[in-house]
Amino acid sequence: MSQPHERIVILGGGPGGYEAALVAAQLGSQVTVVDSDGLGGACVLTDCVPSKTLIATSTTMSVVHGAPDLGIRVGAVPGGGGAAPGGTVSGRGQAQVDAPRVYARVKALAQAQSADVAKRLAAEGVETIAGRGALAGPDTVVVDGERLQAGAVLIATGAMPRVLPGAEPDGERILNWRQLYDLPELPAELIVVGSGVTGAEFASAYQALGSQVTLVSSRDRVLPHEDADAAMVVEDVFRRRGMTVLGRSRAAEVKRTRDGVVVTLEGGRTVRGSHCLLTVGMVPATRGLGLEEAGVTLDSRGFVEVDRVSRTTVRGVYAAGDCTGVMMLASVAAMQGRIAMWHTLGEAVKPIRLDHVAATIFTDPEIATVGVTANAVESGAEDAVAVKLPLATNARAKMQGFRDGFVKLFARRGTGLVLGGVVVAPRASELILGVSLAVEQSLTVDQMAQTFAVYPSLSGSLTEAARRLMLPASGRR
Ligand SMILES: Cc1cc2nc3c(=O)[nH]c(=O)nc-3n(C[C@H](O)[C@H](O)[C@H](O)COP(=O)(O)OP(=O)(O)OC[C@H]3O[C@@H](n4cnc5c(N)ncnc54)[C@H](O)[C@@H]3O)c2cc1C
Repeated sequence: MSQPHERIVILGGGPGGYEAALVAAQLGSQVTVVDSDGLGGACVLTDCVPSKTLIATSTTMSVVHGAPDLGIRVGAVPGGGGAAPGGTVSGRGQAQVDAPRVYARVKALAQAQSADVAKRLAAEGVETIAGRGALAGPDTVVVDGERLQAGAVLIATGAMPRVLPGAEPDGERILNWRQLYDLPELPAELIVVGSGVTGAEFASAYQALGSQVTLVSSRDRVLPHEDADAAMVVEDVFRRRGMTVLGRSRAAEVKRTRDGVVVTLEGGRTVRGSHCLLTVGMVPATRGLGLEEAGVTLDSRGFVEVDRVSRTTVRGVYAAGDCTGVMMLASVAAMQGRIAMWHTLGEAVKPIRLDHVAATIFTDPEIATVGVTANAVESGAEDAVAVKLPLATNARAKMQGFRDGFVKLFARRGTGLVLGGVVVAPRASELILGVSLAVEQSLTVDQMAQTFAVYPSLSGSLTEAARRLMLPASGRR
């Protein structure tokens, strides 16, 4: 039974904030969202939505590049094969990317999505205030001198790109990902510093769009925190497509030259290019919010400490999303925000389960994961069996002309409970739902194996993987 508060004030209009607002409004509360940079947050305006829109274009370019293998003749473009005037870079003499149009589409789509969020909030009766807010005590928010009294407050202020000292972005040649869409052209030679999720996604996208990409990774391999088999497939594809991947190379400094950039690596080696994109992590947007003054505990890096129902250390003050540093994903931010509202309004609530979060890295091919990791299984932390099936033998994959990818499934030894999986494939983000459903609903590999998959389909490899792990009558290995 919910107990509507007098008023709920939410700082930040990204997915952590606006999804919470929708829940609270539906439960009968008076809700105010204060946002400084636009509804939808960085997620919609500068980060997730724009990057995935750019990737929609780069994925189409990959399809065009692969078209001759499927029997399609693609016309040669005069002057193809390098940077062209007028803000375009040609795509290997086959198709051209019109950079200004791509970027205009990215920005228009983000604005439209933000407007949709605004409309939805208005329709649910949520009040929105454009401005920068801060706490003035546990139950008061101040915006431009106006004091808002609140029964509960949600902090959902997000995070910002980390700046590497000696490599400060100038928005022209040295860039963070929020500045890419204001470029007049595609970078001819792009150096991406950082090979985590964001770095790998942009490196993959720009390589497909026609830029010559160098990826600088401080670790042995790209995507160091992901499934090692999956990361190896992606790195192999990167190299085959002509990307230069510099492993164990840490950028110490990035400087402009007359017509480009020079990146100096630790040890003194230099790499030259036309542009440099820095993807070296995020810092929480928690400064100057009056949080510590109100008694809210921040960790050593400035993230707000929360429990699994999004409570901070101060009663009535909750936090959600990137400002908490808990798995920086839009889906997690939204769930943390909803949970905060269900909790404060007295609804039955399940604490967030991070081991059930499905996530995707939108490289080409995509890597989608859910549940336990191969590391946990291999180290014995999880008592599980695993199977990995390459997609090269899947009939649908052959028809579509790709061979880089696999499905991997983990199941509890003895019971056959599905514990997680990894899919590396085009549109793995769509394929992972079957495994996610099995993990969330505690299905066994036997139940998954008895489920119909379409023939021919990539999801057929998931049911095949489940069959390989099925219990023999004598008991599971
Ligand atoms: C390049 C990139 C790609 C990504 N792609 C994906 C993806 O594919 N899938 C996925 O799930 N996640 C993705 N993410 C992560 C996702 O964008 C974040 O997890 C998500 O934005 C977090 O939402 P949030 O509500 O915490 O913060 P945000 O979206 O950052 O929103 C916070 C809002 O609060 C506002 N604000 C800050 N301070 C104040 C203040 N004092 N007063 C008022 N308002 C304030 C900000 O201006 C902003 O509008 C990506 C991230 C990056 C960087």
